[in-house]
Order: sequence, then C-alpha cells, then structure tokens
Amino acid sequence: GAAARAVDVWKVYGSGEAEVAALRGVSVGLERGRYTAIMGPSGSGKSTLMHCLAGLDSVTRGEVYVGDTLITGLGDRGLTDLRRDKVGFIFQQFNLLPTLTAEENILLPLSIAGRKPDRQWYDTVIDTVGLRDRLRHRPTQLSGGQQQRVACARALVSRPDVIFADEPTGNLDSRSGAEVLGFLRNSVRQFGQTIVMVTHDANAASYADRVIFLADGQIVDELREPTAEAVL
Ligand code: ADP
Ligand code: ADP
Repeated sequence: GAAARAVDVWKVYGSGEAEVAALRGVSVGLERGRYTAIMGPSGSGKSTLMHCLAGLDSVTRGEVYVGDTLITGLGDRGLTDLRRDKVGFIFQQFNLLPTLTAEENILLPLSIAGRKPDRQWYDTVIDTVGLRDRLRHRPTQLSGGQQQRVACARALVSRPDVIFADEPTGNLDSRSGAEVLGFLRNSVRQFGQTIVMVTHDANAASYADRVIFLADGQIVDELREPTAEAVL
C-alpha cells in the first residue's frame, strides 16, 4: 500500500463571502520508498495538501490515510501521536532549537517520544549527512546548509513512515541546496525512506521520482522520472 494517501480531499477555509477552497477533490497515493515532489504556483494548495497528508491540518471532506491508518477524524491526541511516531518534518526555516547542540536537536523527537536511538542507525545517519564534526555546535555556529542537514538527520533518525519537506531549499544557496537534495535522494535510494517535498523550484523537483502539479486546488498534471527541463 501507499505510505500516505488522499481520497477526494477537500479543504475549505473560512465561510460565506470569505470562503476559499484550497483543495478541490484531490486524490493521490504516495508510494513507499519513493521521492515525490509537489509543485504549483503560489496559492495552488501545495502547503495545504502537505499539511492534510501529514495530519497537521484537518480536511473538510474526503479521507487521508498514513500507512493503513485512516487519520481523518482522529482527535488532537491521535494526530499528535501520529506526528510523533510516524511522520518526520523538514521546514524551509530549519526550525532548530537555538539553545540545543546539533546532536541534541537531532535526538529531540526521539527523546520526546521516550525512545532511545538505535546507535548503529544514528551513526549511519550522522555519517551520511556529514555532520560528525559538527555535533557539538549550536545552530548559530552552523551554515544554513549545515543547519538543514541537521534538520534532515532529525527527520530521518526516527525512521518515520514519511518525511514531509516544505521548501527545504528555499533558504539555501544553490550549492548547499544541492547537497540537501542529494542527501534526501540518497536516503530514498539507500534506506528506502519515503519523502514528499513541496517546492516551486524545477531543479529541486528534478531530484524526485515523481512530480505532482497542483493548480487552483486540483492535481492537473504528473511527471515520472522528471528532468529539470521537463518540469519547466
Ligand atoms: P501554496 O502552498 O501552493 O502557496 P496554500 O496551500 O498555502 O498554497 O494556499 C492555498 C489557498 O488557501 C490560498 O488561496 C491561501 O490563501 C488559502 N489558505 C491557506 N491557508 C489558509 C488559512 N489558514 N486560512 C485561510 N486561507 C488559507
Ligand atoms: P507557503 O509559502 O508555504 O505557501 P504561506 O506563507 O502561504 O506558506 O502560508 C504560511 C501559513 O499561513 C500557512 O500555515 C498557511 O496555512 C497560512 N495561510 C496562508 N494563506 C492564508 C490566508 N489567506 N489566511 C490565513 N492563513 C493563511
């Protein structure tokens, strides 16, 4: 089955005159062990779709599954558990805690969940992401690219069913962006991690296995094995 799935999902914000249908009947399955990019113009519903798939936002109509679990209708408690146990996040702004070291940031979600890291897996992640000599640094002592690699390690270390990345290269220069994108693609290839990335950058999307195009709250196109030229 899919790692996450939307079935005829509608998301309406506001009401009456102010009503905005951000998603209008979106159905999509995100395949396990694949890297999917969601593209589309500003306001097309990319963030809303990602938030609905990740259990960060409720849907107005339709169903969302993460793995085999129907998350539509889960209460706050259920959604919190889902986000803690099954899902990883990477944000444009890195969202690292400034008072913690890189290592403490990476291990924070596990310690909040009361879980111990698998040492061997932790070492693999640290080495793959190239952070071995930066573990004692705080975020302000790291470059943007290094901070985002810390965020990648944090997402990967708990081996979530899906990692959701919202414009992960939006605040990076092209070289650090390429490093982060390469790392994400490697974690799909080497470790079978499932990744969903929202981006408006065609070059970033070309790292994915599949690109889904949104316009005005609907899926309007899809591309497999994308190249940057084809995405543009
Ligand atoms: P994208 O990520 O593609 O830029 P969004 O998902 O952020 O698009 O937004 C889709 C539409 O929904 C836009 O018209 C946006 O203004 C609207 N929208 C998003 N979030 C909210 C919200 N919390 N309240 C009201 N409207 C929203
Ligand atoms: P992105 O660049 O990722 O699309 P935005 O800057 O559009 O993000 O939105 C940031 C946050 O504000 C999101 O959580 C989104 O749901 C919310 N938002 C977006 N548009 C509106 C809106 N028209 N009214 C209220 N909240 C909104």
